[in-house]
Amino acid sequence: MTEMRLLIGGELVAGDDTLGVVNPATGQVFTRVARASKEQADQAIAAAKAAQPEWAKVPFDQRQAKLNALADAVAANSEELARLLTTEQGKPLAEAQGEVAWTEGFLRHYATLELPDRVIQDDESGYIALQHKPLGVVVGIIAWNFPLLVACWKIGPATLAGNAIVLKPAPTTPATALKLGELCKDIFPAGVVNIITDANDLGAHLTSHPDVAKVGFTGSTATGRAIAGNVANTLKRITLELGGNDPAIVLQDVDVKETAQAIFNNAFLNCGQVCLAVKRAYVHEDIYDAMCEELARLAEQAVVDDGLNQGTQIGPIQNKMQFEKVKEFLETAKQDGKVIAGGEVMDKGGYFIRPTIVRDVKDGDRIVDEEQFGPILPVISFSDDEDVIARANASEYGLGGSVWSSDVERAAAIADRIDSGQVWVNQHLAIGPHIPMAGFKQSGLGIEQSVEGLAEYTQPKVVNIAR
Ligand code: NAD
Repeated sequence: MTEMRLLIGGELVAGDDTLGVVNPATGQVFTRVARASKEQADQAIAAAKAAQPEWAKVPFDQRQAKLNALADAVAANSEELARLLTTEQGKPLAEAQGEVAWTEGFLRHYATLELPDRVIQDDESGYIALQHKPLGVVVGIIAWNFPLLVACWKIGPATLAGNAIVLKPAPTTPATALKLGELCKDIFPAGVVNIITDANDLGAHLTSHPDVAKVGFTGSTATGRAIAGNVANTLKRITLELGGNDPAIVLQDVDVKETAQAIFNNAFLNCGQVCLAVKRAYVHEDIYDAMCEELARLAEQAVVDDGLNQGTQIGPIQNKMQFEKVKEFLETAKQDGKVIAGGEVMDKGGYFIRPTIVRDVKDGDRIVDEEQFGPILPVISFSDDEDVIARANASEYGLGGSVWSSDVERAAAIADRIDSGQVWVNQHLAIGPHIPMAGFKQSGLGIEQSVEGLAEYTQPKVVNIAR
C-alpha cells in the first residue's frame, strides 16, 4: 500500500514525517500515513487563502454541484471507505457502511441548501438586504469517532458558502480523511479543500493562524475551550460541537423489552463513542429492576469482536488513550454501583471492553456525572418527574436527551423542560443534515447542519441603498 498523502494546494504530497495508524482491534500499526509539519500546515493555509477568492466567484449552483460530485465519489468508493473506516476506527463493518451512506446523504442534502439574500426593505425610499458573504479560510478540526461523516460536516458547508478549508482529522484516524482527500483532489479546484494530519500537535497553530477566519470544531469540551482561547486574538468565528452526557428518561408506562432494546442501541452504537449517545439512563422505580435485567441480557448477548468479522455488533474502543480512560470509569463504577453485565476487559489484543451495565448508581457518581464516551451505561432509578428533570438538567452538558413513554403528551411536556440542543421523544440520536444541531452549556457554541449551520460559515453583510 502506498503511503497515504496529504492534500495541499490540489496536490497529494508526502508528509515531512509519517504517522503510524493503529488498528484498535489488534493494537498494532496497520499502515503509515503522511504527517504534516508546521510548515506544511502553513502551506495548506496559504493554498486555501490563494484559492478562496476565485472559488467565491463560482456560482452557487456550481458549488452545489461539487458537493453532489463528492457524494458520487463517496458512493463509488463506499466499500473501500467502509473497510478502511472499520480498520482504523474499529466500528463494525455494517456501521462503517452506514457512516459512508450517511456521508453521501448529508453531502447531497447540503447540495440543496441555499442562502439567498434576505430583502429587508424594497420600496421607493430604498433597498436593504442581508447578504451572506464567504469568510475566507476555514479550519476544520474533528474527533476520531466519525472521521468520514464529520469531515464532510465541515467540508460541505464551508465550501458551499464559498470558503476554502484546511481540514485536520484526529491523529488516530487520519487514513479515512486522507482517502477523502484523494477524492476531493479530483473534484474541487486546487487549494479549495486541503487535508493535513498531525500527531495532536498542530491544533493550536492552525486555530491561532492570522489567515484563518473561522474554526469549525468537533471534539471534547476541554479542547473547545482551548480553541476559544486561541481564536480570541484575531476574533475568528467559531462553531464548537463538544461533549455530551445525554440522559434518557424512561417513564413507568413503556414496553420494557422494546425500550430496553432502543436504549441499548443508542448507548452502545460505535462502542458508546458518540457525542449524542445515551450516557445516563434514568428509569422509573416501578420498572427499574425489569429494565436493568433486560439491558443486562442484551449486553451479555452482544457479539464483541473485530469489526471486520461478520456478526460483530460492538467493536473495540478506538484508541489506547480512550481505552485507559474507560478502564478507569469501570473501576469507579464498580465501587459506586453494581455491575450486572460486562465489566471486563477482553483478553484478545486490541482495545476491547464488554458492554457494561451498572445499576444502583446515583447522581454525583463519576460514571453518572462525567462523559464516559465508551461502552458503559449507568442506570439510575427515579420516582418523581420533577426530580428527574432537575437531575437531568444538573449536568454541565446539554447536547441531547430523550424521554420514553407510551403517553406522548406527558413525555413531550418533560422533554420541553430538558436543557439540551436536541431532545427526542421515544427515540434518541435522530439527527440529519436538515436538523439544526446545537449544544446548551458546555456542549458547544453555534449550530451545525441545516441552513442555520450553513449560515455560520458566512459573514452577514447588509447592503442599504437610498432611492
Ligand atoms: P479532542 O478534543 O481530544 O480532539 C479532537 C480534535 O482536536 C483532534 O483532531 C485533536 O488533534 C484536536 N486538538 C487537540 N488539541 C487541540 C488544540 N489545543 N487546539 C486545536 N485542536 C486540538 O476530542 P476526542 O477525544 O478526539 O473526541 C471525543 C470528544 O468529542 C467527546 O467529548 C465527544 O462527545 C466529542 N464529540 C462531539 C461531537 C459533537 O458533534 N458535539 C461529535 C463527536 C465527538
